[in-house]
Amino acid sequence: RTVYVNGDYLPETEAKVSIFDRGFLMADGVYEVTSVLGGKLIDFAGHAKRLERSLGELDMAAPVTSEELLEIHRQLVEKNGITDGLVYLQITRGAPEDRDFAFPDPATTPSTIVLFTQNKPGLADSPAAKVGMKVISIPDVRWHRRDIKTVQLLYPSMGKMMAKKAGCDDAWMIEDGFVTEGTSNNAYIVKGGKIITRELSTDILHGITRAAVLRFAAEAQMEVEERNFTIEEAMQADEAFITSASAFVMPVVEIDGASLGDGKPGPVAARLREIYLEESLKTAI
Ligand code: PMP
Repeated sequence: RTVYVNGDYLPETEAKVSIFDRGFLMADGVYEVTSVLGGKLIDFAGHAKRLERSLGELDMAAPVTSEELLEIHRQLVEKNGITDGLVYLQITRGAPEDRDFAFPDPATTPSTIVLFTQNKPGLADSPAAKVGMKVISIPDVRWHRRDIKTVQLLYPSMGKMMAKKAGCDDAWMIEDGFVTEGTSNNAYIVKGGKIITRELSTDILHGITRAAVLRFAAEAQMEVEERNFTIEEAMQADEAFITSASAFVMPVVEIDGASLGDGKPGPVAARLREIYLEESLKTAI
């Protein structure tokens, strides 16, 4: 693979980041994952905008402009011959001379930027979309700025492992009795045709796919309600699903061992998946 590190395109084996990098030592960094379908980037503008916001919230300087970022994405997609796959981007607060809790001076410690691709042939035809996912619920013990897309992914990783151990695919996290989100996706339920998902706040990541799906749902005259829901309400729902840049819209068919409806992916999730893939491909660049 050809990867990008601080201005250079290199074979992945030659790419280097300092052991003093704050991303490595302190998870002091932010990231984005953009899907590639048919060689084109899905909702690049949305990801670039959220990246800017994440950096701003953490007082971190953007090492490249949005235009440069797009060019790097395109170069990597081309150099690696990606038709369907992902582009991962990470920016950290760089590598000061020593480990220290205080932020280094950005004038002497430039941020580190790394991008790489992941090849995922047939990304949009995932068989999982036909079967649906099983989720468990776990407490949400993450920090309270989940709207910033940081690389602090230990708890979400642990959640994924808890799900795996229970023979499931993912975990929905619960705080104060309400579902926040999945370990790497936003969570939705459908009741009486109405799509219900938690409102935006610092409690959840402002999913780029969430924004697009809610917009497409409204355009298709589907009813949407942004509000908290409990896991009990979810277990009684007609259907459920998740959204993320890499999974698009993925149905959920089981929550904490209870099947939803007939245990098969529901029509609303299936329709939204179709609309999302169709519409987002139209604006892919
Ligand atoms: N919530 C969390 C915690 C996530 O990690 C992700 C994916 N990175 C999402 C939601 C979905 O966001 P997006 O649609 O922008 O991928």
